[in-house]
Order: sequence, then C-alpha cells, then structure tokens
Amino acid sequence: MSITDALNRPLRDLRISLIDRCNCRCPYCMPSEGFHQAYQFLDKKEWLSFEEIVRLVRIFVSLGVTKLRLTGGEPLLRPDIDELIRQLSAIKGVDDLALTTNGFLLKEWAPRLKEAQLGRLTVSLDTLDEAIFRQMSGQQGSVKDVLHGICAAEHAGFDSIKINCVVQRGINDHTILDLVKYFYGTPHTVRFIEYMDVGNQNHWENAQVVASSEVISLIDAQFPLQRLQITQNRSTSETYRFKEGKGEIGFISSVTKAFCGTCSRLRLSADGKMYPCLFATHGMDLGAHLRGGATDEFLSHLIRELWIKREDHYSEIRSSVRNTSKTSPKIEMFQIGG
Ligand code: SF4
Repeated sequence: MSITDALNRPLRDLRISLIDRCNCRCPYCMPSEGFHQAYQFLDKKEWLSFEEIVRLVRIFVSLGVTKLRLTGGEPLLRPDIDELIRQLSAIKGVDDLALTTNGFLLKEWAPRLKEAQLGRLTVSLDTLDEAIFRQMSGQQGSVKDVLHGICAAEHAGFDSIKINCVVQRGINDHTILDLVKYFYGTPHTVRFIEYMDVGNQNHWENAQVVASSEVISLIDAQFPLQRLQITQNRSTSETYRFKEGKGEIGFISSVTKAFCGTCSRLRLSADGKMYPCLFATHGMDLGAHLRGGATDEFLSHLIRELWIKREDHYSEIRSSVRNTSKTSPKIEMFQIGG
C-alpha cells in the first residue's frame, strides 16, 4: 500500500542518480562554463554504494515504490552498473526498472544491461543535425554515436526505446520533423520535452519554450495524429499515435500543461539526499543517517515523514515563484536526474 503526500499523490516512482558526472555538457542542464574542468563533483566515496542503494530501495518498495529509473549525470559512467541492475531487478515489488542515458556509451553497454534484466531504456537525442547536436551537447559526442547506441540496444533486445528530445526555440525546433521521420514506423517513441527552467544555470527564458501544442500541430500537418488515453505508464507524457502509420509519439509539457497533480516521483541524489521535486530547493540527507547507523525502521520513518508532508507543485506555480524576488537556488538537474 503506497503512502500518499499532502496532495494525496501516492509514492510510486523513485529516480536514483548514480553519479553527478557526465560526458556531455548540455547548456540546458550542465553548461560547460559552470561545470568546467575544475568543478568539484562528488568524490567516489560520497556515492552511495550498490549495497546501500539496494538497502534503501527495499525500504522505498515497502512504502509503495514500484518503478525505478536510474539516472545521473550519465549513469553509464558508473562502473559495474550492470551488477546493480541485476540486484535491483531481483527485488520483489520492483515492477519497472528503467534507465535514462545520453547514449554515448550505449553501444558497449547495451548487451550487459539487457543481460542484467534492465526493463526499459530512454535515450536523449535532441536533433539529427550534427552541428546543432554539438551546440546542444557542449561540443561532446555525436549523433552517430547515439544512433549506433540505439542500434546496439535494438540488437540486444530493447524493442521499444523512448527517445527524449528537449525542444528549444531558435536552436533545434526546425529539426523536429527530421526526428519524427527517422523513427516513424519503428517501435520506438520520440518524446518532445518543453524546455524547462531546471537548476540555476541555464539562463531559461519563457520565449525559448516551444509549447507542445505548437509541436503537435507542426507534426499533425504532415503525420496526422490521434491522442491516446493517459495510463499509469504514461504519467508524464501525453501520447499520440500516427493515424496512418505505426508508432507513437509523446509530449512532456511541464511549462504549458503542468502534470504535478499526478506526480508520484521522489528523487535520490548519488550521495543519498532525497528531493521531492525536480525543482526542489531543499533535500533530506538520508545517506548521512544511513551511514550514521540508522535502522531500516528509522530510515523508513524519515522517508515517510518527507513524503506525507510533500506539497511540491512547482510547474503549476512557476510564474509566481519566478516573479518572487528572493527564491532559494534549486537543486541542479544533473544531481537528481530529469
Ligand atoms: S514540478 Fe515537481 S511536483 Fe510538479 S511534476 Fe515536476 S517534479 Fe512533480
């Protein structure tokens, strides 16, 4: 039985950041000017060990969590990640185990992830245009690397991959249809994500947001779409199917169509801090209690206390918060996964 928060939302999804480092420098998440060579990332000793993560996940499952998503930074930079996936997939109550990656290392990892019983894969790919890709990745990686990774994942048996594309006006919005055409008729689902004011360093402006309604009209003009009903598995994205063809397409509209009302996600940073929202300004240091010798019972009490008091719904109040003069800095997205 799931515990519910102050807005009557059940705790069901846990996003676990395995590492705060990344081999990419997307300006909307980890701009290279802010996260340069000298930037102090967490020391390896601060990362929760696999044993600690498995122990905490068992407690989260006892409180209602059924879906796990492994994130980062870039989770495939965490050594032996397949060993952790094997252990997590064996926990009774974990019905859905997914991972989000930028795809740069997917070609080598795909077979081991599948063998370790990873259930679902989400790959970030903002455009097929190499020059724009480099602009949006902080001059890291290439479209070719990511497509090779997706190919390898298909061969490894991942038959329905989610492709996440963050749309920024004046940057990649004119390349949306290329991405649609490339994956049209495949079992993979491209999801277009409205550009969000995550963290504190991406200089977000509402003018750069391309509303999902605009993207839907653009696509519908060439590939007529039909809206599909929201189900538990599709809680963040609105999903459509192509009327004339095979395949689906999704839209994650945190700016123009907030979905906080059904948000059942809790986030855990690589060093064990819990955050109740992607735009949270404060976390709760569960890792310190765990390493301080806390019992499972006490850790469970701490998680319950945080969740039942949770009232977060940032996306519904974004404009009023942003107009408030003094707001605390938000946690950075790469520290808790998108
Ligand atoms: S803004 Fe926060 S509460 Fe709303 S959907 Fe996102 S993570 Fe959930």
